[in-house]
Amino acid sequence: MFTVNKCLCPDCNDSALSTIDFENDTIKDSPGYCINHAPNVQEVTENIIKYVETHEKIIGLNATGINFENMDFSNKKFYGCSFQHCTFLNIQAPEARFRVSFFDFSVFSDCNLQSSNIQFSSFAGSTFSHVIFTGSDLVHANFCGISAYQSSFDDADLYNSRFIDSTLNCVSFRNCNLKNANFMNTSRKDVSFKLSNTRSAVFSPEENISENDEGEV
Ligand SMILES: [Zn+2]
Repeated sequence: MFTVNKCLCPDCNDSALSTIDFENDTIKDSPGYCINHAPNVQEVTENIIKYVETHEKIIGLNATGINFENMDFSNKKFYGCSFQHCTFLNIQAPEARFRVSFFDFSVFSDCNLQSSNIQFSSFAGSTFSHVIFTGSDLVHANFCGISAYQSSFDDADLYNSRFIDSTLNCVSFRNCNLKNANFMNTSRKDVSFKLSNTRSAVFSPEENISENDEGEV
């Protein structure tokens, strides 16, 4: 797990960004500042981006609030990382692997996470626009309260993942494993569950979705 160092600024409860020790090629386990209070925020941000760019396996990184643009995350492995309140714009991340990582309240635009493998991770409250999760394993993932637009989860394994209270607009869940996936209280427009095992998923009690249903509400 990432070390949850609080920001050194008095009265600030945000978590501190990781600082990188490039000499020893490690993430320092020392107190620091959040993105709003870091005196050298540009340098800290650039260092975190450089660290991600130059490592294939990343453990315990706290990048809360950072903007990532036009980067290649493909095949990278992330363990116990925090990317909460981040922006991901035009990120290529096919076959990326995330374990116990947190993306809550982040914004994803034009991102490709095709065939990624994401487990025990959280995207709660995040926004997705033109994001491709096609063919991914998204097991035990938290998508509660997300807003997703023109995005695809086709051919994904969503076992035990939760989309409670989410807003889904033009989102496709075709040919997915939905066993124990939870879609209670979702607002859906042009959402397809075609060929997915909707009977093994959890929907609000008043909904009646069959496996061959386009699932549009
Ligand atoms: Zn702070």
